[in-house]
Amino acid sequence: MAEARREICAYGRRIAGLGMVVGASGNLSVREGELVAVTPSGFPLDRIEPEDCPVIDLTGRWVDGDVEPSSETPMHLGIYADTGAGAVVHTHSAHGTAVALTMTELPPIHYDILLLGGPVRVAEYATYGTAELAENVRTALAGRRAALIANHGGVTFGADLAAAFEAARLLEWLCEVYVRARAIGEPRVLSEAELAAVTRRRATPTRTAQDMTHSPIEPKSIT
Ligand code: 13P
Ligand code: ZN
Repeated sequence: MAEARREICAYGRRIAGLGMVVGASGNLSVREGELVAVTPSGFPLDRIEPEDCPVIDLTGRWVDGDVEPSSETPMHLGIYADTGAGAVVHTHSAHGTAVALTMTELPPIHYDILLLGGPVRVAEYATYGTAELAENVRTALAGRRAALIANHGGVTFGADLAAAFEAARLLEWLCEVYVRARAIGEPRVLSEAELAAVTRRRATPTRTAQDMTHSPIEPKSIT
């Protein structure tokens, strides 16, 4: 898990640098087969070294490392149990948390929410690190790649850490747009039909650069 541990440190620094966590909040994990490398509990994400990251198996049994795994390990393992995820990212980013304080779902205000599977549900509040919180997050994630967590933060997963991180950034961007829009008016929400049209549009192959060289459209003369 040497590469996975290095990646966790690199992304931990990026997440902290973007202000998506403060202090020792947030945690990341990477799964490879039956093993999971996870951030240690109580460490600021920008100060973790690869050897600080414990390795556990999918049941939470200790495999390697001297430091206690993240308190949210039950949540990470629950997500691996339910999905084919290769990585999980949990942050306390400000706009996501603001939405998670006030709403039960982030509505589809931008079509890119489809990249997260649709409107993002807010998992019910439970004390951090508990099996109850892990269960609430699993419920909120059904059919989604992201969830917000009431009075807490957000969680995303992906095939690898790059994908889970991009999902976390997209979630925070959507929440920020929503919060800013609410300050100046009532945001327009996309309809089911509009979202379905985007899904169809994405399923339609776009022309490749090679296709373009055979384009029947001649460039217009500018003289
Ligand atoms: P850990 O430091 O134990 O990972 O906890 C941080 C956190 O965000 C709890 O929800
Ligand atoms: Zn947290």
